[in-house]
Amino acid sequence: MSAHKPWKRVPIGGLQSTMHDISIVAVIIGKTEYRKVVSKSDGAVKYVCTLTLRDSPHDIVNYTVWMEREALELLSSFKIGNIIELINPRIIQRDFGSTRDNYQPSSTSQFNLMNVEGRTRIVEVNEDNYELQSIFYQPSKSSNYLNVMDILKCRQLVGRFVDLFVGVRSVGPVKSFLNKEGEERRVRDVKLFDETASCLVFKIWDENLIAMSDSWEPRVTILFLADVKVSFDEWRCSTFISSSSKTIITEEPVSDIVDSLRGYCQVANFSTSSRLDSIVANLVPETITQVHNVYSLNLEAESPVQDKDALLISNIYGYITRISDIDEHVPISLRCGYCSQLYKSDQELGFQCCQNMDCREYRSETPEKHAIKQFNIKLDITDETGTLIACNFRHEAVERYLGTKIDNFLKLSEVTRKDLKWELLMAPMRLTMAVLLPTLDKRSAVFTVIHAQETSLQEICAKMPNPVPI
Ligand SMILES: [Zn+2]
Repeated sequence: MSAHKPWKRVPIGGLQSTMHDISIVAVIIGKTEYRKVVSKSDGAVKYVCTLTLRDSPHDIVNYTVWMEREALELLSSFKIGNIIELINPRIIQRDFGSTRDNYQPSSTSQFNLMNVEGRTRIVEVNEDNYELQSIFYQPSKSSNYLNVMDILKCRQLVGRFVDLFVGVRSVGPVKSFLNKEGEERRVRDVKLFDETASCLVFKIWDENLIAMSDSWEPRVTILFLADVKVSFDEWRCSTFISSSSKTIITEEPVSDIVDSLRGYCQVANFSTSSRLDSIVANLVPETITQVHNVYSLNLEAESPVQDKDALLISNIYGYITRISDIDEHVPISLRCGYCSQLYKSDQELGFQCCQNMDCREYRSETPEKHAIKQFNIKLDITDETGTLIACNFRHEAVERYLGTKIDNFLKLSEVTRKDLKWELLMAPMRLTMAVLLPTLDKRSAVFTVIHAQETSLQEICAKMPNPVPI
C-alpha cells in the first residue's frame, strides 16, 4: 500500500541532500543514552539521542533526535535490534572530522539525519524482513581488528578507540553511583577473553548497552565491539576498555573469525597451569617469533597486569650459566597421573601424594597409585644484558632437549649425565620462555623455559635485540 503514502522509501545508500518526503526502513544497530542539553541563551532544556541505522552491509547512517522531556517516553520503546521506518527526517551533509562527527558511531553515509519537530516520525515495522534481521548480525565495521593481548600490552593504545571480537567470560552486577552533578549513573563490568588472553575488563556506562548485556552468557556469547575506548587505570595498574557514545556492539556477529573463537570459548580453561600445559603440548617453536633480551624481559616482569593468568611467550638468545645438579642427584618431582597436579607432602601420611580433593587418587596410600616422575630443574640464563635467576626448566622441554625420557635418563651413568650437563652449559641457546606476569596482589613473575634449542653465534647476533642502554 506504500503507493498511497505521501513519502517515498529510499535506501540509506540512495540519500541525497535535496530529497524531501522520504522514509528509510532500517534496523537499529545502536542507540545512545539521552543527554540533557541546557540552552545557553534561554536556559531551555532539551534532550538528545542518536540512533544508528543500517539497511545493507555497506550502509549505515546516524539519526540524531532533539526533543522535549515529554518525547523521551515515545522514543524509549525503540530498542537496538528493532526494525523501523523513519519518515520525513531532515538530511544534512555530514561534516567529516567535526567534533560532533567524532562523538558519533562510525557510519558510512555522507549524511546525518535529524528530526524536525512535528514532522519526523518513527514507526515500528512489523513485517518480517529477513534481510534486515540478518544485517543486524554483521559486524558494523570491517577494519583492523585487535586481539585482547594487543590491548593489554600496547600502552600506545591508551586513549584510542579499537575494534575487536571477544567471548564473554563473566557479567558483573550493575553498580550505581552519583556523578559530579549529583545524578545517579550506572556501570557494569563485563570480563572478556579471546584465544590470546583470558581477561579484559569492559566497563559499560550506557543504559542501552547495560540492558543489552543482561542476556549475555559466559562462554556462550560472542561479541563484536566497534569503537570501544582503551584506558589505563593508574591505581590498579591495568588496561581496560569502556563504552562511549561511539560504541556499537554486535551480538553473535557473523564472521569467519568467530568460528574458532566460538570453539575456544567452550573449552577455554582459565587456570594458568592448564593454559601452560596446552601451550607446551601444542608448541611449534618456529612460530614463536617474539624476542626479548634479559633486560627487556625483566622490565616486562616488573609491571603488574590485571589479568592474573597473563602469559608472555618470547625467545631469549643466551647461555645457561647455572643449572641444578643433574649428574649426582637428579631433582625430580611427582605429579598425579589422574589429575596431573603436583604431589605435595602430606603431614599426616608422611609422604607425597595427590592433594586435589576432586581427584580419585586424593591422598591415596596404595603403592600402585599413578605417580608420574618429572624433572624439577632450575637454571640461570645470561646474555649481555643480564641474568635471569632460577627459571623453571619445564619437564617436557628437558626431555625434548635431551632426546630421552626421564626414566632412560636416570639409567645413564653419572659421567654421561655430567657430560650432558656441560653441553647444556657451554652452548649458545635459543630459549623459549613462558613468563607468568606479576599481578597487583604481589605475586612476582614466574619464568619457565618451555623449549630449548642450541643455536649458533651468528643467529644470536642476528636475532638478539640491541642491548638497552642504561
Ligand atoms: Zn590427582
